[in-house]
Amino acid sequence: MKTALRYVGIACVSWLLVAPAFAQDEITVLRCPDQNGLPVTFQVDYSPVADPATRQLSKPFAENQACKVFPAYRNITGIHIEESCPTFKYMIYDKDQWPHRGGDAGGYAGRCGAELLAEFSLLIKSQIGPYDVHEILHVYQAALGALPYQHILFGPSMAEACREIGDNKGYCVAFFKLKTEGLKIK
Ligand SMILES: [Zn+2]
Repeated sequence: MKTALRYVGIACVSWLLVAPAFAQDEITVLRCPDQNGLPVTFQVDYSPVADPATRQLSKPFAENQACKVFPAYRNITGIHIEESCPTFKYMIYDKDQWPHRGGDAGGYAGRCGAELLAEFSLLIKSQIGPYDVHEILHVYQAALGALPYQHILFGPSMAEACREIGDNKGYCVAFFKLKTEGLKIK
């Protein structure tokens, strides 16, 4: 009994030492400047990103997702994502922290969120700052059920989203090509 208790004690201490390093750095957007409240809460966890300047880009990224990309895809798809996802969470990683080793993908969509490398999210250069119009579209697309090819609707949808969020300089188109033809992002 004594041994078991000691073991539990040690387990708790090591958990406490490890947990704060990977669970604290998170931005949550509950509302946008021109709206009363968001139907979906957007969270961006940037704990696995080390560079201070890159980490600061999490705030504009979160705000762009909540206040620009989310309403754009709502208009484009007509899908009310809050019916399946009241919270949408991004997890952003440095390359050396990326948990998906062995593949060439820099992003993965989940059920109500996505994991992205910083270079494909916080560090993209655009007129309006960092954003993601790719992984979030996978989450919207999940509402449609099985599709023959997972990027079948992405070209026109992403182009329309880029136009709606105000990134008009062609970056978005280049980014889409990179992601789908180069298969850097899945
Ligand atoms: Zn994809």
